Amino acid sequence: MDYFTRKSGKLFCESVSLTRLAERYGTPLYVYSLRTFVRHYKIASRAFGDIPHSIFFSAKANSNLTLLKVIADLGGGCDVVSLGEYKAARKAGIKRVIFSGAGKRPDEIEAALKGGLEFFGVESENELELIEKIATRLGKTAPISLRLNPDVNPITHKYIATGLKTEKFGIPAGRAIKIYKYISQSDRLKPVGISMHLGSQIQTVKPFVEGFRKLKAIFRLLLEQRIVLSHIDLGGGWAAPFTKNQKLPGPSDYIKALVPQMKGLGVEFIVEPGRSLVGNAGVLVTKVIYLKTGYSRKFAIVDAGMNDLIRPALYDADHRIEPVLLRGGRSTKYDVVGPICESSDTFSKKTALSALHQGDLLCLFTVGAYGQSMASNYNSRLRSAEVLVRGNRDYLIRERENYTDLWRKQKLIDLKNLQKIKP
Ligand SMILES: *Cc1c(COP(=O)(O)O)cnc(C)c1O
Repeated sequence: MDYFTRKSGKLFCESVSLTRLAERYGTPLYVYSLRTFVRHYKIASRAFGDIPHSIFFSAKANSNLTLLKVIADLGGGCDVVSLGEYKAARKAGIKRVIFSGAGKRPDEIEAALKGGLEFFGVESENELELIEKIATRLGKTAPISLRLNPDVNPITHKYIATGLKTEKFGIPAGRAIKIYKYISQSDRLKPVGISMHLGSQIQTVKPFVEGFRKLKAIFRLLLEQRIVLSHIDLGGGWAAPFTKNQKLPGPSDYIKALVPQMKGLGVEFIVEPGRSLVGNAGVLVTKVIYLKTGYSRKFAIVDAGMNDLIRPALYDADHRIEPVLLRGGRSTKYDVVGPICESSDTFSKKTALSALHQGDLLCLFTVGAYGQSMASNYNSRLRSAEVLVRGNRDYLIRERENYTDLWRKQKLIDLKNLQKIKP
């Protein structure tokens, strides 16, 4: 559930009207509901009952510093996949950080070892060797959790399925014991956990139950070898609702399905949700610039583009779209499209909306995760502002970019004498 509601036809984020925010900050505009975000965190945490656990928010879903600070203040950690995210988490006051990702660079490993971390989620023997080498040079001990590829089908979009044996992620389960033995014999490596991450927008609890079973089997085999891990990390990948009446498990359901299997293991459980915490805490408010009729379709051309929200173009994501102000009357079918010169710059096709007028505001839902964090400057467009709402107050948590930002790192070089270049 979320805290976006209508009052006499007008859409509100908590107690603040989206129309007012659009007037104040312009469009396109990302708007987040703090209460929705905090709610998801809290219900997930409570679902563990008395099982020792921690929630590590996946920073790549949304790395806005203020949102990361909310996680820090709630006592959560962060799962990061780059040095940029590591630094953002630290800057926001996050104390515990997991460093994941299949391609960590040497400088990233070094910085994390120096700055401290919960563990590296290690995805290959090659990576492990490099971490050991760097830890030796620095005189540090690197905490390690192997990310297992449990080969379970998460049944989601193929671009965001990561736990299948054909994917680049994780280490095949058959090699795990041997690698853990190596880790436990190294002076510079310390085995602390076992991890999985099956993919994203996984709409049933079944793959988690199956994956956890496989992790537990290895955990037990390790115990027999006297390799005692302190953490079991079940990753993220819980779904967020994209349509209104979609029956999906909520953040607490994914945990409740696993809790009976969690008892008596003597470890801390870790989960790394991103989308399910922040996804439907965010909306994108955009303005209709033009209405036009093609050969057979009506188009609403809006001021947000695929540079602001790439998910429909990249994953065929279907984000619910509603007018900010409900006018009623007969509905018409529109293709809601952005201004960018690509056919994939389309937010929805044949969406029934009450007749639109130029200048109307539309709202795209469930864009809090992988929205602004995947935004770009394509078409030399400026990235949008972000606003966080708490009750009847709003906070600008990211300013809209300006043209100085756009060119900041570019050099304008006069190369001279281009006539002399022979064709
Ligand atoms: C992306 C990612 C997550 C978060 O995934 P969501 O689908 O947003 O919950 C968690 N852990 C790892 C290792 C990831 O790469």
